[in-house]
Amino acid sequence: MRKNFYVVGNLKMNLLSREEATQYISLFQRELQGKRFERVKGIVCPPFLYLSQFDNLPASIQKGAQNFFPEKSGAYTGEISPLMLKNDGVEYVIVGHSERRRIACETDAMLHNKTLSALKHHLIPIVCVGETDEERRADETDRVLAEQVKIIFSSLSKLQAGTVIVAYEPRWAIGTDRLPTTEELLQVRVLLLKLFTEMFDAQTAERIAVLYGGSVKSAFLPAVSFEARMDGVLVGRESLFPYELVKMMGVLEYEAERQEQER
Ligand code: PEP
Repeated sequence: MRKNFYVVGNLKMNLLSREEATQYISLFQRELQGKRFERVKGIVCPPFLYLSQFDNLPASIQKGAQNFFPEKSGAYTGEISPLMLKNDGVEYVIVGHSERRRIACETDAMLHNKTLSALKHHLIPIVCVGETDEERRADETDRVLAEQVKIIFSSLSKLQAGTVIVAYEPRWAIGTDRLPTTEELLQVRVLLLKLFTEMFDAQTAERIAVLYGGSVKSAFLPAVSFEARMDGVLVGRESLFPYELVKMMGVLEYEAERQEQER
């Protein structure tokens, strides 16, 4: 079976005007010109305000949102519903980024609810999990990940679980230029496979894509996606440069093709 890789760009609270968003999009269009991606999906998550401007990107790039409120409509001042996103052509939503866990106090129970809501509205959740530096130093990474996954994925059907994308984002690696070793990443990959096999079954566990996020640069991609068997990356700072995102897509496309030919 041909494997799909993902490059997800989280633009966070950047691009400060429509003009800046337009400039970003035209740089992106220029970088994508003449390039074909058959094995890699690009997903870009701009601030809500600019989502409709991102319709102008080629089909190899899909739209994602950075957050949403898990109700369809109603008296929720200042919030954005999953149905609004879907109606605007959004396909993916980030759920539980560590910045929202920290700033907006989102808990695993809330993220479980958001994951269910996203699935109900036919959005693909990109669920972020990961340990803090303190937990890592206390050798608690496995326990923390198991707890997060068990709560967030509880009561999902096999079919629902198989469509979720998980982003393993160790909090100590976000915005710090510190990276886990390939071996550490592979251990997390194996742990998640084991947890999902126990919760669902082996086929479902294989279908749940697992990305890595935290200080990603293109040079790190072959180690992440091939040696550590991750299904792609969630990118913060580097995603502000369309050139870098397209370069990452190119690295994964090339490596995936090379490995297919070797098989
Ligand atoms: C992130 O915030 O999800 C992230 C991966 O950021 P950065 O790439 O800047 O570390």
